[in-house]
Amino acid sequence: MDGSNKKFIMDLEHLNRFNSEGCPACGQKFTLGEPVVVACGAWEGGAKVIHENEAVFDQRTGQFVERKCHAAQTNRVLR
Ligand SMILES: [Zn+2]
Repeated sequence: MDGSNKKFIMDLEHLNRFNSEGCPACGQKFTLGEPVVVACGAWEGGAKVIHENEAVFDQRTGQFVERKCHAAQTNRVLR
């Protein structure tokens, strides 16, 4: 991962590269043409590519975060 925070469409090259692991957020494989983002989450190893609908953009940090992870962080702040 190059560390840049971005959103892109799954093409054949990315599909081959990321589908050995699949999506770390939901465990499903990616599909050609799907919108995906590089996001941080509860998994190990820093930012990873996940489905766009499983991530939210965190204005505070300026990067995408996995939904579940983001909700946990927000709850912690509010309490
Ligand atoms: Zn997913």
